[in-house]
Amino acid sequence: MQYRDSAGSLALAERALAGALAGRDAEAEGWARLALGHYRMRYATPSEALVELEAAERCFVQSGDRRGEIIALVGQARCHWRLGRVREPLSQMMALRNEAMQLLNREERSMMLNVIAGCYSSRGDSPEAFAYLYQALRESRGGRSHGFDVVLYCNLAHELLQLGDYYEALNYINEGIERCTRMANDHLLAVLLLNRVLCLTDLDLRAEAMTDVSRLSALFERTGGRGGRVEALAAMALTALRADRADEANRLIALADGERGPTTPAEDRVALVVARAELLRVRGDQAAAVAVLDAAEPLPIEGLTLRIRCLFFQTRAAVHEGRGDAERALADLRRWQSLHQDRALMASKGRYQAASLQTELLRLQQQRDEIEAQRRASERAKAELEAINGQLSQKVREVEALQAALRDQAARDFLTGLFNRRHLSEVLTPMLALAQRHRDPLALAVIDLDHFKEVNDRFGHSAGDRVLAGFGQLLRTRLRRSDIACRYGGEEFCVLMPRTSAAAAQAKLEQLLRAWRATRFDLGTGVLVGASFSVGIADSLTTPGSTEVLLNAADDCALRAKRLGRGRIVLHGAQLDERPAVTP
Ligand code: GH3
Ligand code: MG
Ligand code: MG
Repeated sequence: MQYRDSAGSLALAERALAGALAGRDAEAEGWARLALGHYRMRYATPSEALVELEAAERCFVQSGDRRGEIIALVGQARCHWRLGRVREPLSQMMALRNEAMQLLNREERSMMLNVIAGCYSSRGDSPEAFAYLYQALRESRGGRSHGFDVVLYCNLAHELLQLGDYYEALNYINEGIERCTRMANDHLLAVLLLNRVLCLTDLDLRAEAMTDVSRLSALFERTGGRGGRVEALAAMALTALRADRADEANRLIALADGERGPTTPAEDRVALVVARAELLRVRGDQAAAVAVLDAAEPLPIEGLTLRIRCLFFQTRAAVHEGRGDAERALADLRRWQSLHQDRALMASKGRYQAASLQTELLRLQQQRDEIEAQRRASERAKAELEAINGQLSQKVREVEALQAALRDQAARDFLTGLFNRRHLSEVLTPMLALAQRHRDPLALAVIDLDHFKEVNDRFGHSAGDRVLAGFGQLLRTRLRRSDIACRYGGEEFCVLMPRTSAAAAQAKLEQLLRAWRATRFDLGTGVLVGASFSVGIADSLTTPGSTEVLLNAADDCALRAKRLGRGRIVLHGAQLDERPAVTP
């Protein structure tokens, strides 16, 4: 929230702190103070921020929250860096780095890398600063952006500016300003505008630079605030001087003086010295200008950028030149030149670093994209395979059901629902073989409906069909499941009865004959009742031999039953005429 609604974030942090103190919750207090510390760091002074961040660190140590502790330490390091102290925070961050990379989330890691970059930047080590800034940018781009990447643009631009890479710096600045306007973050906007003022001034684009100076002044008036703006005001003053606006420069320097304090960083103090000297020089007071600059020497190394050092000697050389002191002017120009060479060297190293990191970043992104694409493709392939497998097994099920239906259809007689002759011929051989192996009797009955022609003649062919279907139903419902009843053809039927003797089959068929005689058909034009059939039976024990032998024996018997007057059952091998016709 601090990037988008700083006032809202402050109110929330204060409420959180009050709640944590009331509940004596050390961890909650730690996070509340951390939020307050960050707020102060961004919108007040580093010294004020340090108080909160150190308190936060103590809370986290007490509650055993190592991640919170590290974030508090990163914040403190940032404050020290802003105050111009570099060595200690840098070595502390480097010591914590590996652990922090494990414990912190992306944005927190990015913040830490940014602090390290800042420390290197302050030491004048731009190549290292670039390396860490690009790493920080990589981390912050990986996650959801809360606005921290704009801070990184800002710092990257600042770094480029130190090396004199103004146009590249302007790219980042303009992008940052664009993002910032949408975020309504005046503080970040001010820092970006300041960087743009520095760029435009050094590029000698005075009018544009002055536009930004006015915008910055208005922003400062609106936001109020105190401290931390000495550098900005000094830079604005220098810009005003270049644009021949000495009065404005004077006003800005006075403002900066008012804000200067014992904690003002060295960089800012030197910037103000340069601005004051430049004002004196412009006003013709070269001696006073030299005195102001000389008083700043020796320049502190800690916390001073190459850019400001260059500016210092450049300004003093100009003042000496104005006084006609060629010797001192030359000495300062030499120092300026040597620093400038350092700057140029670092610029090329920095650019090399940036390019190689950018390349690595692109390579990693490409790798990630490729892996992602492979994963998607294999997932898609898997899904397709599964779909195809699903369709395939569905089809297999359908085909199997169809085949079963076809098999059944091929084996069944449509009219009676009994098996057909083909099925009989298929099963008779194995059934007979099985019966013979087990020495079990297999009974075979041949049934022929009596005077069926008359049924057709009296009631019509379709009535005859109904009677045939009725006979089929009788066999299907009254026989055992292991018996096989077939329509042999026309009004002739054949029943296979495993593990059944001819005598037992005869008993069964007598029951059926009685039932058939009792069956009544209402055939529309009349009623059919008392129909009979003739049966010939043989079994595999009393009639050993092939299927043909068995079939012929039963068939002969059926014929004999006809001759004997129909409506009766004849057993193969039995005495003829012994058994009378089956009566109802
Ligand atoms: P028998 O007692 O000597 O067997 O006399 P029958 O009339 O039953 O014998 P025949 O062989 O003379 O006639 C058989 C009749 O069965 C003739 C034929 O029209 C009839 N028939 C055969 N198949 C069907 C059929 O699918 N439907 C109908 N409605 N009649 C059939
Ligand atoms: Mg017949
Ligand atoms: Mg018949």
